[in-house]
Amino acid sequence: MSENKFDIGIIGAGPAGYTAAFHARAKGLSVVLFEKDKAGGVCLNKGCIPTKAILHSAELYEEMKCSADLGITCSDVSVDYAKVVERKDKIVEKLRKSLELSLKNAGVVTFNAEANVLDNRKISAGGEIYECEKIITATGSAPRDFENLRFDHEFVLSSDDILNLKILPKSILIIGSGAIGVEWARIFSAFEVEVTVVELAEHILPLADIEVSKRVERIFKAKKIKTYLSNSVEKIEDKKVYLSSGDVLEPELVLLAAGRKPYRLDNALSCIGDACGKVQLAHFAIKQAVAEVSGVEFNEGLVPSVVYGCPEIAWVGKREQDLEEGTYKKSSLLISALGKSHCDNCSDGFIKILSRDGKILGAHIVSKEASALIQQIIIAMQNNLSIDDLKKVCFAHPTYSEGIFECLFR
Ligand SMILES: Cc1cc2nc3c(=O)[nH]c(=O)nc-3n(C[C@H](O)[C@H](O)[C@H](O)COP(=O)(O)OP(=O)(O)OC[C@H]3O[C@@H](n4cnc5c(N)ncnc54)[C@H](O)[C@@H]3O)c2cc1C
Repeated sequence: MSENKFDIGIIGAGPAGYTAAFHARAKGLSVVLFEKDKAGGVCLNKGCIPTKAILHSAELYEEMKCSADLGITCSDVSVDYAKVVERKDKIVEKLRKSLELSLKNAGVVTFNAEANVLDNRKISAGGEIYECEKIITATGSAPRDFENLRFDHEFVLSSDDILNLKILPKSILIIGSGAIGVEWARIFSAFEVEVTVVELAEHILPLADIEVSKRVERIFKAKKIKTYLSNSVEKIEDKKVYLSSGDVLEPELVLLAAGRKPYRLDNALSCIGDACGKVQLAHFAIKQAVAEVSGVEFNEGLVPSVVYGCPEIAWVGKREQDLEEGTYKKSSLLISALGKSHCDNCSDGFIKILSRDGKILGAHIVSKEASALIQQIIIAMQNNLSIDDLKKVCFAHPTYSEGIFECLFR
């Protein structure tokens, strides 16, 4: 093939794009990958990884503050937030370099350039035309703002801006209580920032099961995170935030975390990942890429949702509010029933399994390790295992997993 001819041309090197590139190379196809910003996309540079790196520092600080209860005395525990951010940057850079090297070693030809689709076989980038048998666009998404609520990147920040703060504010107002809003509320609250959350829906985490939302509201209350539910921001003027309820708030900063808009390229026949606007999660983007290139299909109804922090929140499948009363069985277990939770000083939460005719319809977990626990349920659901099948599985003790086992008998 000539220099500018490839089997596959991919635009965007986030989880969707780089996964597609690796899988195409594994099939022996020639691949050209264009990225206008940084390899790894939002997930690695502005999303999943940097937030979890900062969250880890926040959790450690929170644990250290009450370590005396666990017999560990440490005096003068304090936060050097600039260092927290520096560590986050180092982790991101290390992972990005490793990704770039893996792409190179796999034989993916990468260009750091903005690309456009000319037609279903041609991409233009950096003044060149690239001919490709197939084009995959994986251009991701960007933070969404609104006509009455614009990012000014100084007072009203996006989820990108917030990652670059070097000093913690005294107070912050978070608009939107999806996964991003809730994770940042937990981070800031752990660092003793005064946090307020405004949510349009009746409950925090509106996409979660109602019982999960209510539990998170309780956790927020215990952590003194103030919430304004069924409320919206009407306008922001002179650093004053006017709510639909008539309340006027004066936070030091505002984080607007009320959704993301997909980036769609003209002439693109189809796209994968955040750009397609379905489920904006990295694992969904990755599975779509694998399906697109390697033909390994996945069940879009069994995609886990996870909200990180202490305790973690995870769910899959039907929520209680989706089901008609009397048509399902609800089995639940408090995490405090598990010995391990007391050993870990983390006994807040529950496991709830919804089923019908012995088959799991959905599961909702608030617990340490919920992100790992939900995977066990998904494997069972994906393979159509019944509750009776699962009862035969031997779960280790003491673990959080045995909470699932206990729950099956309720
Ligand atoms: C704060 C935050 C936390 C998150 N936490 C999680 C989490 O814990 N778990 C989870 O599953 N998901 C999380 N997400 C969502 C996750 O980051 C996205 O779902 C994921 O990055 C989508 O991958 P993608 O490849 O579709 O797009 P992206 O990661 O957005 O990558 C798209 C890439 O395309 C590039 N691009 C766009 N247009 C062009 C062009 N014309 N030419 C060349 N390049 C172009 C962009 O620069 C970008 O690098 C989080 C998101 C945010 C914002």
